[in-house]
Amino acid sequence: MQRRSSSWSGRTDNRMLVFDNRFLRELPGDADRRNEPRQVHGACWSPVDPTPVAAPRLIAHSREVAAALDLNDDLLSRPELVAALAGNALLPGMATYASCYGGHQFGHWVGQLGDGRAILLGEAINRRGERFELQLKGAGPTPYSRRADGRAVLRSSIREFLCSEAMHHLGIPTTRALSLVATGETVVRDMFYDGHPVDEPGAIVCRVAPSFTRFGHFELLAARGDQALLQRLVDFTIARDFPELPAGRPEERLAAWFVEICQRTARLLAHWMRVGFVHGVMNTDNMSIIGLTIDYGPYGWVDNFDPGWTPNTTDAASRRYCFARQPAIAHWNLERLADALSTLTPAASDLAAGLERYDQVYAGEFCAAFAAKLGLRAWQHDDAQLLEDLFELMRLAEIDMTEFFRGLAQVDLERPDSATLQAAFYRADLAQRFASDLTRWLARYAARARQDGQPAAQRAAAMNRVNPRYVLRNYLAQQAIDRAEQGDEQMIHELLEVLRQPYDEQPGRQAFSAKRPDWARHRAGCSMLSCSS
Ligand code: AMP
Ligand code: MG
Repeated sequence: MQRRSSSWSGRTDNRMLVFDNRFLRELPGDADRRNEPRQVHGACWSPVDPTPVAAPRLIAHSREVAAALDLNDDLLSRPELVAALAGNALLPGMATYASCYGGHQFGHWVGQLGDGRAILLGEAINRRGERFELQLKGAGPTPYSRRADGRAVLRSSIREFLCSEAMHHLGIPTTRALSLVATGETVVRDMFYDGHPVDEPGAIVCRVAPSFTRFGHFELLAARGDQALLQRLVDFTIARDFPELPAGRPEERLAAWFVEICQRTARLLAHWMRVGFVHGVMNTDNMSIIGLTIDYGPYGWVDNFDPGWTPNTTDAASRRYCFARQPAIAHWNLERLADALSTLTPAASDLAAGLERYDQVYAGEFCAAFAAKLGLRAWQHDDAQLLEDLFELMRLAEIDMTEFFRGLAQVDLERPDSATLQAAFYRADLAQRFASDLTRWLARYAARARQDGQPAAQRAAAMNRVNPRYVLRNYLAQQAIDRAEQGDEQMIHELLEVLRQPYDEQPGRQAFSAKRPDWARHRAGCSMLSCSS
């Protein structure tokens, strides 16, 4: 597609966005234009128009994402841009479509899924030549909507908007969120699938990422035996999203690319584990091929350290996607991707190297991350036992993960005292019962840290750079939602601001680092979430 209109392709100050839609241009689209649920074969995308909404209003935006797209505040407040972010109008160069993918959900192959409520707007190119896919989540039905409405509720949109940005500022690869727009319409949801549907306010998030391609895009083509299109999608993805991959014979290139995917996924998982992030729905359709955190649904943050915890009520019985299982699930998901890619290569066993690499990189990154969290300059073999004993103690004593690691920097290595970490306990009885265990563990830890030999101030500063003070605790997100549903959106802005500097002490903002209050322990939205969004 050639850009012809100089009015919008020119790099002048008042231009909005410049588009270069390679996914559309280089991959086959669906010839059928009917916007109704159906199977789509032989195509990677279907053209689809967003369904306009009644009264779009920009609730919040991310200034960093706007800046990355060369959008200043003046441009962002323009009605035509807000209309575009609501799916009510297109900007020049935008072309709207939904992409076709499948996936394994909860361990089972389910066939075609696709963008059922996400509509892509095209690929924006900024002044530095960086490419970003823009995607509206909740912009109306597509051929992939199955029986659902293509919409999203305000509560889940607030959660996605805030967490995308929070993850980025924590230094974790993620899709981003440019904007949160209220639609002025309601959406019917039965939050706990128990026969109590209610009208909820609707919203649309504009998500931004270099690529929204998922493992499931490749899996679906392989499952259908469409090897020609699978090969095209692989070639396209490598060319557009992995340009640094060295050239080589096709099977070598495929294997090298898979190794890179495995490495990125390993790094991502080590990040999730180091901050206590639980994705909640690690189905293969929710796994990014470029290694980003993607699809913020019933995710949650570990409060009291519990390896078996899952925020997702749909997964409460089997706990497939609980905190501790995430690294193994990512490996399982990579195996499913390898199954799909193996249909393209005579040397399918070459892909095994990628899976081995996943294990190595994950182990290395995990050790490095936890050495840093403990304030140690390098990981030593015996540290595994020290950390394992700590995890067990934290689990039994119900110690808050974020508070503990932040507090550990304050421990005096000459006189380690469990009192320094009192604030990390949820329960006074457990604090008392495990005080001597914690003192003993701290003595071992202090000996190890003294041997590491870093000056105290340096050690504390280094720990504070990796142990966040502020994370999007589940109850904080829920408070922002409760208030927004009552018309007060202030807390969305406050959280967005606080979470921009998660590793810094922010005087006056202690409330945003408080551990989960008692009322939130078993409240919906705070400790348990459904997929209904
Ligand atoms: P998720 O569990 O959010 O990863 O979604 C799984 C599949 O269901 C994807 O194909 C989504 O596009 C689709 N989906 C989820 N919610 C909706 C909705 N409200 N309308 C249409 N499709 C949806
Ligand atoms: Mg999904």
